[in-house]
Amino acid sequence: MKLNNNNLLKTGSYINGEWVNSESGGTFDVFNPYDNSLIAKVSDCGQKETKDAINAAADAFKIWKNYSAGERSKLLRKWYDLQIENIDDLATILTYEQGKPLEESKGEIKYGASFVEWFSEEARRIYGDIIPGHEQNKRIVVLKQPIGVVAAITPWNFPNSMITRKLAPALAVGCTCVLKPAKLTPLSANALVVLAEEAGIPKGVINVVHGHKASVIGKELTENPIVKKLSFTGSTEIGKLLMAQCAGTVKKLSLELGGNAPFIVFKDADIHKAVEGAIASKYRNAGQTCVCSNRIFVQSEIYDQFNTKFREELLKLKMGNGMDKDVKIGPLIDTKAISSVEAFVEDAIEKGAKVICGGKRNTENENIYEPTILSNVDTNMKVFKEEIFGPIAPVFKFDTEDEVIQKANDTPYGLASYFYGNNNAQIWRVAEALEYGIVGINTGLISTTVAPFGGIKESGFGREGSKYGVEDYIEIKYLCMEI
Ligand code: ADP
Repeated sequence: MKLNNNNLLKTGSYINGEWVNSESGGTFDVFNPYDNSLIAKVSDCGQKETKDAINAAADAFKIWKNYSAGERSKLLRKWYDLQIENIDDLATILTYEQGKPLEESKGEIKYGASFVEWFSEEARRIYGDIIPGHEQNKRIVVLKQPIGVVAAITPWNFPNSMITRKLAPALAVGCTCVLKPAKLTPLSANALVVLAEEAGIPKGVINVVHGHKASVIGKELTENPIVKKLSFTGSTEIGKLLMAQCAGTVKKLSLELGGNAPFIVFKDADIHKAVEGAIASKYRNAGQTCVCSNRIFVQSEIYDQFNTKFREELLKLKMGNGMDKDVKIGPLIDTKAISSVEAFVEDAIEKGAKVICGGKRNTENENIYEPTILSNVDTNMKVFKEEIFGPIAPVFKFDTEDEVIQKANDTPYGLASYFYGNNNAQIWRVAEALEYGIVGINTGLISTTVAPFGGIKESGFGREGSKYGVEDYIEIKYLCMEI
């Protein structure tokens, strides 16, 4: 891996401002998902290091919470500037360990950094309230204070931005953090921390613990009473487990879990725009995002026309090594992911689906799964019920608005949804009827720092980004004064 600044490549955990190896001296391997080559050996930490990190964060909290909002803001802004200055290196590291095309990695770095920029600004605007008292001689003042030590557990599909959108609001309001990044993508996390240190963020404010046994680190983070809040992005299954583990110490929680996004195309939609949106929402990161459209519903009058155009555009997407120019579809994260996608397609074909394109691994690189469209799909198939997390687009046919709303909502998940249409009244009806935290209307790209990203139902709770993003890291206290 060729970088301008080799200092960004760190393989230790980062505790109390020091890069540390695990006490046992053990390491775990990090591979490039494109060619399975070994990129790094990272310190394999466990409970002891997690405890150290929590204690360091607790000590740092005593100091960091008393920094003025302006001081915290300036340090975050500096961190943001350094991320933008180092964008090429950060993107290279990301593509090497995660596989997504370099342009997408650059997009993610910009997106990730935008949270740091945004919350550096919000840091100055954590206003309290004065409430008119309930008696003549009573005065009520609402204070907003940082929760304390925050644990953040993040996934491999966005190794940069899932971290900044937790750490930036936490730091902005005065919390300190212990981060456990996904073991498949630890290097992007470390590069961010190198820049945080360079920006002057004090020791102990951000701590990072790497380890291949997530459950051991997770147990300490969820059971240790010093940790006051957990922010988790990952699968619904692990989210539920962590929620249960947090019950013992009544920790606050933000959970951003799985999705099963519907993407609805009504007959009066602009089909070209809808296809463009379907590709943007489905095939980003080779389908490995929690807001990827999972089930595409197209009204019967335009079903064939949509599929023809969709296929035409899909065949133009170049597959290959994310580091190569013009590549749009990189490898899936690992062989487990490939097998999982294959199982979805097999199940659908067995139950009568037709493959319109793709439906197999790439012949030149077995770690890549071809962008796939399935027609003749129905609600009994796994592709309807479960999150695919790969480049498979099942296209369902529907007749009426009521029918498609019922199907779109027929899932325990409620993160992102999308629809295309041109009838004003229908747009309002459908937007209000969809049981999702996010609704994209005539667009497939919904993620931005300025909006409150998050889900409902079993997709979790809490919001990341926007003015609401700080609230997850704040305690409200009121002072009731008699005068
Ligand atoms: P994904 O499908 O994105 O890998 P996971 O929920 O398995 O979803 O992983 C998301 C994050 O949660 C990763 O950092 C992973 O290491 C971590 N994780 C997985 N299992 C546990 C656990 N038992 N306790 C704490 N963290 C966990």
